[in-house]
Amino acid sequence: MADYIIVGGGSAGCVLAARLSEDPVLSVVLIEAGPPDTDRYIHMPVGFFKMTSGPLIWGYDAAPGKGIDGRVMVYPQARVLGGGSSINAQVFTRGCPQDYDDWAADFGCAGWSYADVLPYFVRSEGNDTFAGSQHGIDGPLGVSSGAPHPLTRIFVKAAQQAGLPFRADFNAGEQEGAGFYQTTTRNGKRSSTAVAYLKSALGRGNLTLRTDATVSRVIVENGRAVGVEIIVNGRTERLNAEREVIVTAGAIGSPKLLMLSGIGPAEHLSQHGIKVVHDLAGVGRNLHDHMDVDVVAELNGPHGIDRYKKKRWQAVAGLEYALFGKGPVASNIVEAGGFWWGDRAEKTPDIQFHFLPGAGVEEGIGSVPGGNGCTLNSYHVRPRSRGSVALRSADLRDAPVIDPNPFGERYDLERAIDGIEISREILSQPAFARYIRREHLPGAGCQGRAALEAFALQHGRSAYHPVGTCRMGDDADSVVDPELRVCGLAGLRVCDSSVMPRIVSSNTNAAVIMIAEKAADMIAGKAPAA
Ligand SMILES: Cc1cc2nc3c(=O)[nH]c(=O)nc-3n(C[C@H](O)[C@H](O)[C@H](O)COP(=O)(O)OP(=O)(O)OC[C@H]3O[C@@H](n4cnc5c(N)ncnc54)[C@H](O)[C@@H]3O)c2cc1C
Repeated sequence: MADYIIVGGGSAGCVLAARLSEDPVLSVVLIEAGPPDTDRYIHMPVGFFKMTSGPLIWGYDAAPGKGIDGRVMVYPQARVLGGGSSINAQVFTRGCPQDYDDWAADFGCAGWSYADVLPYFVRSEGNDTFAGSQHGIDGPLGVSSGAPHPLTRIFVKAAQQAGLPFRADFNAGEQEGAGFYQTTTRNGKRSSTAVAYLKSALGRGNLTLRTDATVSRVIVENGRAVGVEIIVNGRTERLNAEREVIVTAGAIGSPKLLMLSGIGPAEHLSQHGIKVVHDLAGVGRNLHDHMDVDVVAELNGPHGIDRYKKKRWQAVAGLEYALFGKGPVASNIVEAGGFWWGDRAEKTPDIQFHFLPGAGVEEGIGSVPGGNGCTLNSYHVRPRSRGSVALRSADLRDAPVIDPNPFGERYDLERAIDGIEISREILSQPAFARYIRREHLPGAGCQGRAALEAFALQHGRSAYHPVGTCRMGDDADSVVDPELRVCGLAGLRVCDSSVMPRIVSSNTNAAVIMIAEKAADMIAGKAPAA
């Protein structure tokens, strides 16, 4: 019997396991469906581009999207210790203060304003560059400034020529402008939550880690979660929880598990023959995600990282990393970007950019004909489209039906077009003139908003930031309350990306870690009252 059972050893789960087990009188069990994080590519920052396919993800596809010309999008989600923090691109951004102030003021999330959450961002952070009231310097999560590629520096100059001011720090309140991203790395290695938080905690006698173990059901008795069923090597085991079951299985895994446990929309559960334990309409609703659109340019020479696709150069880079811990292998490639406006009526920038000094690095984008390219992608940071996660069947092994409803709202499509136009503007600045031969995608022939719309529909893809499917709030459709307790049940919380009522205006990992840090204090009764 454990005090706390944590389901899902991802970005949030590893933080919670480490924080809760700081109290030696409590026993904590962390259960992860995937394997331990022993794959060496996990720990090399550059390895992320190998992670969006292969054995360390669930292999999901999103349902054919009405808004994306009926295409099926690959939908990579981690299935390994550390979860998304073990496979992501390591870009470290926390959104803007307005995001959290809106959660508190407009989404019924008392206690989640920026002033409330800032201490948890600061507590998590071990920043190698920035200090002061907005940053932590000795937290577990390694956050580093890199040594950007020369072409990445050209991007930052070009963005300034296009009118975006230089921004040294995207995480100190204001986001607008262009600059270099910090990354969740330390000393040239990925700082996943498995490495940063869990590794040192595993020595504690009160923390048990079970990997390669999939939770098939949360067991609820008399309105209280009392344990879980896990499948290990095809055999079912029961684990009991004295105090709480905490679900941190991610924005796809958490609603799926709740529904398989009979917690969700009654009608949907009944359709699949699942006994309704607790009718909770909001489970699986409100799925939203950032939709990336890439502008790709062909370079007139080997100015970027594409040369490292050749074995000879890989050997050089590998040696540099092995000897000095530096060079292209120590880079996440996505070293710079920025935030700017599509819709000037918005209070804060609504489009985010990521620059890559290569082409074909990310899933689904091919190389350029000449072999050397660069990529500038953009997404609308506060999409209005909402989709869902639903069960395909009552069988744990079946992938859920994931419909992020990309570009379901016309407004989002307009912002995607804005993003392409601004990307083109940046890539056509004098700073790039010596390097770029021509635009490869969308290509010179694609002109005007109607053509760019068609391009976005054909090429838009997930930025891998699903959130919102167990939404926090105080209305009837909320899945969890502002203490992250599942509404209407005792002993059960959800504490991960799925609780965000609206996505933050940036990449999501830092915000998830903050959520878990705050959840740990709430569970331990240490959080200030809302
Ligand atoms: C390819 C990729 C690139 C990204 N790039 C960035 C980036 O550069 N910067 C950034 O800030 N964010 C990025 N993100 C997003 C960020 O990593 C996620 O938002 C974050 O990791 C989500 O954390 P989570 O704890 O909610 O879920 P996850 O980290 O996904 O953890 C959920 C865990 O639960 C496990 N699980 C699920 N179901 C069960 C079950 N039934 N039983 C047991 N275990 C289960 C899963 O295997 C997984 O390990 C990226 C994500 C991906 C996938």
